[in-house]
Amino acid sequence: MLIAACTRGTTPPPHEPSDEPRHPGQEIIVGGKHVYVGAPVVLWTDPGGYNAYVPGPVFATSGPAGERYAPGRAWADNDPTIGFDALRTSIDKLVVHYDACGFSRRCFRILQDERVLSAHFLLDVDGTLYQTLDLRDTAWHGRSTNARSIGVEIAQIGVYSPKDRAADAHQKRRWYVREGGRLRLAIPAEFGETGIRGAGPFYAARNRPVRGRIHGTLWEQVDFTPQQYETLARLTAALRRTFPLIRLDVPRGADGRAYSGELPAATLEAFQGILGHYHITTERNDPGPAFDWERLLSDVRAIERGGLTARGP
Ligand SMILES: [Zn+2]
Repeated sequence: MLIAACTRGTTPPPHEPSDEPRHPGQEIIVGGKHVYVGAPVVLWTDPGGYNAYVPGPVFATSGPAGERYAPGRAWADNDPTIGFDALRTSIDKLVVHYDACGFSRRCFRILQDERVLSAHFLLDVDGTLYQTLDLRDTAWHGRSTNARSIGVEIAQIGVYSPKDRAADAHQKRRWYVREGGRLRLAIPAEFGETGIRGAGPFYAARNRPVRGRIHGTLWEQVDFTPQQYETLARLTAALRRTFPLIRLDVPRGADGRAYSGELPAATLEAFQGILGHYHITTERNDPGPAFDWERLLSDVRAIERGGLTARGP
């Protein structure tokens, strides 16, 4: 696709929205414009927000310097002022991750202060969505997909081997306690202040850990929270209204079921829709076997039919 040539300005990138919010606390920023989601949103410009434009650590007093993202998009010559319309017709993938950190504040600290990486969105256990970058800018989360994708890190401690009775599985099982037949999130006290806005308690969407194979290996994982599924569905619906190339589907195998292997490079490049990090590389298992693709798709369909009423901030 041809993108009109544009001149790079000498002023800093416009990281502030250009229009006024109509639904404060429920909108994300796309190319400088507010876009309604209908779920609780904290922007990088908001008090307590997570700002991936900072070219250095934000929690630690020292650490690696430099950008955590790339301005603009590679197909638009990394123009930091690329407009809404060019974005609409060029972004075609939503990449879903779990953060392996357990809560969004820790995720942002590790991405920002230690790993020098980013994701557009961090989705906390209470369903609060943090946006760290305008979607016009390239987050560093999904390797070859970065130029045309949007990345969301869902707060969750992640998979463990069901055969592993020792360290890793033990550590991750400590994050949940059985309560009335349900699995309640119980973040170990050693992690200190979590920054989670909602009061809780927070429960897994399913009452048992879920097992499944990723890249041929059997893993186990507790499910995400219902609040996270709801916000992710509202975000997905908002993104699909904005980016019509993001189809409401996931990679599927010959049997028609959601596929949990790596996609060949050409298939990945051509794919338009919603996918996981494990579709991009065999080195990653996220969003894990518990992530319920069909639930997400049916929730988005319900929203698109007007079937789910909006939730307040
Ligand atoms: Zn990932």
